[in-house]
Amino acid sequence: MCGILGFIGKKPVAERLITGSDRLQNRGEHSTGAATYDGNFFYSHLGLGPAALVFNDYPYENLKGSAGIAHTRYATTGGDSPEKLQRNIQPVYADRPGMFTCANGDLINMLSQTERLKEMGFSFQTELDSKVLQNLMIHYMHENKLHCAKEPGDYVERIFKSLEDLHKDLQGAYSVVTLMETGLLVFKDPHGIRPLSMAKRTENGEITEYAFSSESAVFNYFGDYSDIEELKPGEALFIEHNTLKMHRRQITPMQEAFCFFEFVYFSRPDTKFKDRVVENVRKNMGGVLAEEFASMRNRIDVVVGIPATGLSAAHNFGQILNIPYENAIIKVGNKRSFQETSDEKRRKAIDNKFIFIKDFIEGKRIAVIDDSNVRGTTAKKIARRLYDLGAKEVHYFFFSPPIIGSCYYGIDTPDESKLIAVGNSNEEIRKLMQVDSVNYISHQGLIRGLGIPKEELCLACITKKYPTPVDEIHKRLELRKKERGCGIC
Ligand code: SF4
Repeated sequence: MCGILGFIGKKPVAERLITGSDRLQNRGEHSTGAATYDGNFFYSHLGLGPAALVFNDYPYENLKGSAGIAHTRYATTGGDSPEKLQRNIQPVYADRPGMFTCANGDLINMLSQTERLKEMGFSFQTELDSKVLQNLMIHYMHENKLHCAKEPGDYVERIFKSLEDLHKDLQGAYSVVTLMETGLLVFKDPHGIRPLSMAKRTENGEITEYAFSSESAVFNYFGDYSDIEELKPGEALFIEHNTLKMHRRQITPMQEAFCFFEFVYFSRPDTKFKDRVVENVRKNMGGVLAEEFASMRNRIDVVVGIPATGLSAAHNFGQILNIPYENAIIKVGNKRSFQETSDEKRRKAIDNKFIFIKDFIEGKRIAVIDDSNVRGTTAKKIARRLYDLGAKEVHYFFFSPPIIGSCYYGIDTPDESKLIAVGNSNEEIRKLMQVDSVNYISHQGLIRGLGIPKEELCLACITKKYPTPVDEIHKRLELRKKERGCGIC
């Protein structure tokens, strides 16, 4: 999972690119990069760490031009040593035709496509999915003779044809922004698995900028965007420099499979997908949990939410069941434990992440509300702390059903053997976590809380029904084991 941004307009975009990257830090902070174009030259600035570090004291005027893209990276490929992270910073560059590209999501058949492209003579100095996407795009742009296009309409037709060809070759999740010398190209995979939304800025009724972001929270932050909409599955847009003329087409639409986990965990609370504010969905989930587990009412003295994703759900849960809510667990810092690349680092991140207020815990039977239970690492550790601080009972409630399948679309849950719900009954999970009860929202309850038809969602990690073919995934998992010394697998 990563964050991507794109702006094209009539005024310099550097400041918004940098500030926007900072707002997308929740989606990854292993590295941050931005590239702009001023009509003559590309400019870029990239580095390891979050935007606040990479752009600290950076004179943003150096990123010249009124079009640009940016990326915040959560590394799911290529290893996590500094030198490996360094060679895998996005956006990636190519010069025939000149372009910078960045993407969010993982390709299942990345390795076979990389081999194929190498045989055609393409170079790979990175291990990124976005380089496969870029090289494949370039291959089809040459095949479709993009350089021979006589006028803008013909040019865009050749780009869209190239993407149609690319869609046929690739399996997986990809939301992409590409900055070209001719304009800004933006597209999604045919199932629209990962998010990407668009907005406009206007002055006196005239469009002065188009903006694209993994999350609409970026548009909320700036406050002057309108007409925010999610790109459709398989949709592509090309916006010409200078004229800002937009061309858009749903190139290879397939059944939508939007990642439900974006609502439950990944995204910022003020982001909106499919007309639903993320925080409101989380609040609904607390209501559904309260309905589904009303019979537990007399076993609970106090409700506690795990920050930050579990707070609204916990408040709602407590309110509906008329149980007091206490702010017993408080988060310190911004670190998200999923962004750590080994179990050991993940455990340390949890230690440094929360403070616990003993007065709210001691002698109480506590209902803990959390978004999900993936490896069980966080939940078990938190439960231990609660008991150590005198909790009489700890009952865990999750508003995702048991996670039984790995995500192959950009999240680090590659090996099912590490998922606590795989091969374990609820009672076995309870024993492993050493708590008094473990309670998961039902599949129907999840769909009700989301308020979105299940046919429009990717639910693969709770159903094992993947929206794309996954026959090549074992090659990629092997590679990941090698890259990470099996640390996170
Ligand atoms: Fe999202 Fe799960 Fe699908 Fe991955 S497998 S895209 S986390 S719903």
